[in-house]
Amino acid sequence: MNVERIPGFCALCRSRCGCISVVEDGRLVAVEPDPSHPTGASLCVKGRAAPELVYASDRLLHPLRRTSPKGAPDPGWEQISWDENKKLVGTPVEVLVAVGEGRKDGATGRMSGRARDGRLVHFTGTDGVRPGDVVETVVTDAKPHFLVADGALLAHRRTRAGDASEAGTRPSTPGILLGMPRIGAPA
Ligand code: SF4
Repeated sequence: MNVERIPGFCALCRSRCGCISVVEDGRLVAVEPDPSHPTGASLCVKGRAAPELVYASDRLLHPLRRTSPKGAPDPGWEQISWDENKKLVGTPVEVLVAVGEGRKDGATGRMSGRARDGRLVHFTGTDGVRPGDVVETVVTDAKPHFLVADGALLAHRRTRAGDASEAGTRPSTPGILLGMPRIGAPA
């Protein structure tokens, strides 16, 4: 059996503890502390569990495309190839602008939203774009679980939801009677 002990660091949180990965015949079997590293001779349980994460049966290994609308009981995830995912680069995408979807939006200067197929899209926002609006832009990078669109917007449609978001209120829809007469005294 070929056993390698490879020094490195754990990337499962920002502490970046020094560690030694034990690889037997090409398979990661253990992650141990590296006493020569400044973080000392310890490693938390999450770091030690790295082999279980790497080989977990439900770990996502391919890009997925949603085929049912967001909110549907079954998202209908469909596996697509890496090539198919990369083909999205350069294609236009329509995005319903969301709020709170992009954890790093503050740092990247982007905004985030959902494409029609439910995929998360991080795009370069411009002044005047509000959560609830709809924008059209072009995909510049396709990650396994989200798209990036760093070019200029092709279109920006202001919506009532965007107006409400800007005003800090909920949009309301005028009453629809569906042909039924109102009950009560005539106006
Ligand atoms: S070993 Fe634990 S504390 Fe250290 S980087 Fe990994 S997850 Fe973070």
